[in-house]
Amino acid sequence: GRMATDTRPGGGRISARGGGIMVTPVRRQYLKIKHSYPDALVLFRLGDFYETFDDDAHLAAKELEITLTSRTLGKGLKVPMAGVPAHALESYLARLIKKGHKVAICEQLTDPALSKGLVERDVVRVVTPGTVLETALLEQKANNYLAAVVEEDAAVGLAYVDITTGEFAATELPPEKLLPELERIAPAEILIPAADAPPSWAGGNGGSGYPSVPESPETADPSGYPLTRLNPATFDLDLAREALLAHYAIRSLESFGCADRPLPTRAAGAIVDYLGQTYKAIKPRLAPLSVYSTAGYMTLDAQTRRNLELFTAGRWESRQFSLLTALDDTRTALGGRLLRRWLGQPLLERAELERRLDAVEHFFADAFRRSAARALLGNIADLERILGRVQAGTAIPRDLTALKAGLETAEPLAATLTADNADNAVAAAEPVAWLSRQLAPAPEPAALIAEAIAPEPAGSVGEGNIIREGFSPELDELKTAARDARGFIAGLETRERARTGIRNLRVGYNQVFGYYIEVSKSNLRQVPDDYIRRQTLTNGERYIVPELKEYESLVLNSRERIQELERSLFRQVCSQLGGYAEPIGRLAAGIAALDVFAALAEVAVRYDYVRPRLNDGPAIAIRDGRHPVVERTLGPGAYVPNDLQLDKNDARIILLTGPNMAGKSTYIRQAAIIVLMAQMGSFVPAAAAEIGLVDRIFTRVGLQDDLTTGQSTFMVEMEETAAILNQATPRSLVVLDEIGRGTSTYDGLSIARSVMEHLHNDPRLGCKSLFATHYHELTELAQTLPGVRNFSVAVTEEEGRVVFLHRIVPGGADRSYGVHVAQLAGLPRAVVSRAWEVLAELEKGALPGRAAGKGKGGRAAPAAAALQIPLIQPAQPLTDAVLSLDIPNLTPLEAINKLYELQEKARQGGG
Ligand code: ADP
Repeated sequence: GRMATDTRPGGGRISARGGGIMVTPVRRQYLKIKHSYPDALVLFRLGDFYETFDDDAHLAAKELEITLTSRTLGKGLKVPMAGVPAHALESYLARLIKKGHKVAICEQLTDPALSKGLVERDVVRVVTPGTVLETALLEQKANNYLAAVVEEDAAVGLAYVDITTGEFAATELPPEKLLPELERIAPAEILIPAADAPPSWAGGNGGSGYPSVPESPETADPSGYPLTRLNPATFDLDLAREALLAHYAIRSLESFGCADRPLPTRAAGAIVDYLGQTYKAIKPRLAPLSVYSTAGYMTLDAQTRRNLELFTAGRWESRQFSLLTALDDTRTALGGRLLRRWLGQPLLERAELERRLDAVEHFFADAFRRSAARALLGNIADLERILGRVQAGTAIPRDLTALKAGLETAEPLAATLTADNADNAVAAAEPVAWLSRQLAPAPEPAALIAEAIAPEPAGSVGEGNIIREGFSPELDELKTAARDARGFIAGLETRERARTGIRNLRVGYNQVFGYYIEVSKSNLRQVPDDYIRRQTLTNGERYIVPELKEYESLVLNSRERIQELERSLFRQVCSQLGGYAEPIGRLAAGIAALDVFAALAEVAVRYDYVRPRLNDGPAIAIRDGRHPVVERTLGPGAYVPNDLQLDKNDARIILLTGPNMAGKSTYIRQAAIIVLMAQMGSFVPAAAAEIGLVDRIFTRVGLQDDLTTGQSTFMVEMEETAAILNQATPRSLVVLDEIGRGTSTYDGLSIARSVMEHLHNDPRLGCKSLFATHYHELTELAQTLPGVRNFSVAVTEEEGRVVFLHRIVPGGADRSYGVHVAQLAGLPRAVVSRAWEVLAELEKGALPGRAAGKGKGGRAAPAAAALQIPLIQPAQPLTDAVLSLDIPNLTPLEAINKLYELQEKARQGGG
């Protein structure tokens, strides 16, 4: 073949053994290809397998847990090899991509059966975490984004694309907004210009407590973003512009609104260029580039997403208890992805929010309409991703029937948007008219599929059951001929048995001879004259008849021709469908939105949410608010609802005190979550809610373990607090939980106090704040700062034990109840008693704030505990001795002896 002339010395093991070895042409071909993809694992198609060689084979064997073998690929040259069956490519690919590898897929470009000499091969695609299309590698209800970041001076260009849906967006932002935005997008892969130094944002901990992005040449560990470093020229403005113009085949970037926006253009251009490098054979569909501004959205930094548990909850990042899971009752993958996006991008403008709320209300108000819509949605496939596959040429036949079914659902779905009640038809139809327009049916693509594709097509193309009868006369003819020929062969055995009288005559098939008639030795005398002998077996002979061979070639040839024709017809249909990308995409977006509205309505009805009343004023007033996630984990009726009244002018800071476990964190998070839900367009868990829109929600929690970045927790806490004081505006909502807890009491108190004073007094701030603390000493601040209101979580005591009521009441807590809580937690009684005592001593010594005198009743240790103190205190070693007894393993006699011993000790200690 053409490779035979390639005399370039190979890489890897060959050169190590010297160039004198004669290698096979396949080996040469492989080495040449591998040379072009040094940083990817090359999966080399050989017949029914994808093989890896040399170092790649070692790596693949390890990562995929497959057998490492070897293959002789030249005289005396044995090469390590590991392969996976071609039909199982997707699952193996998934594992390699998840582990952060890049994989180059090298296909056979010519049919091995037809080619003389070497089969042509080349890489058709490089699969990277950000460019996967395979369903098995994707999460249904989440986007898979590839991002590109380019920095210049004091600005950053950011672009991101989801190849599977075509979504493509770019923006320019100030550097401090980059990490929150990346955190929102959560890209699977980020392209950056290669440079000596890692990008500043991916380096250390920029002072704001965001997780640092680990750097490594290719990919990073699963906790960070995999960075792919590209030749810096890829980000060059002129080249980027050219790449974009060429991809869309347009002459100016004007229509995208980035003609004079160099940074977004450079980032977007780098993405298009990278797609060209990774998708060799196909051109993925991209929606028109949308240049957006983060100014329209509320910035949610990493800490806030985490603290409010928007997408994952708790230390183990469980999804089960996230807000998203609590709200996600969408029925389609389309809707699931959109809901996730809305939750990550709350809005700042009232008009758009009211539109969303109107749509939710439309479904909230009418159970019949809601269930009709949701029943229809349940049958809609992932139209966006199907469209992506159709255009990338990787669609399977059932994708098209699913697409058709989805398209056909648009009309009945749109009908659920009209009001069925004639009286208020006008009033009710108006709010969702915009959505009905988006759901206008797209009959052409559905009709094309109906015409071309069999109603229940086979699983893959090339089995003859894909194209509908009547679509292609040529195909139908071929099929009829093949059917006749198969019929002839099928009937041959019976006919020949009758004709020859040979009862055990058999018609069979093998690879070498094709169809034959087999007669056993004992019957050879009865073989008719027109049989032609082909093969002699030990106990019989095999014959053919000319007619059989004619039909045989008809069957075989027509099978190949049917497959080929079917494939080409299917491709043709797909490319025609690609022409309808715009209406299909529009419809998919409409269905996604409708799904989200119906789901939010469903959740609102089921869990008794209310439509928030939005305004642009400074106040937030919530009546009987609940935490949507905690409420559900507790079960019906168990959650105690609470009110909230915040106003920039009056009660702008709420200082919430109360013992640990009383419900402080839950309460202040609940406030933030209700505001956030309102600003994504959802109903909220409350009896009534007036929300003055906020521009940003900040949440910080003191004393968190931050094992991943290895920073001192207190340092992180202070950095985060600093970030808030620097970035908040009077329209922000600040939620601080136990700030200052990570250091000594005096330090912590001092810091907490000065942070509060600053939030209150600084004219640039004055933002609405919720401040939870167990430092009850802080309650005094309300006396000096007019905007501070004290609240506490009510508790009562029953028999010396604290009982949490979870009710928020005016006034500060008069003490911390820390010891009570320790007791509830099961600390040994002796330890609890001792703690009471130490506390009493400390309070005599007067902590700051305590000396200033608490108005209400002072504190008294519970009677039972107080009684125990004198008994136990002098006998501390005795207590220890008792506690150290291993009672289950004592014999009765030993026990008596111990008791004796202890009594002795007590006498000595007491004396
Ligand atoms: P704190 O911040 O005061 O230590 P949390 O907010 O963590 O307390 O609440 C502790 C637990 O109390 C929660 O896990 C929840 O089970 C329960 N809880 C909190 N608020 C309420 C409420 N309003 N109604 C019922 N249970 C609640």
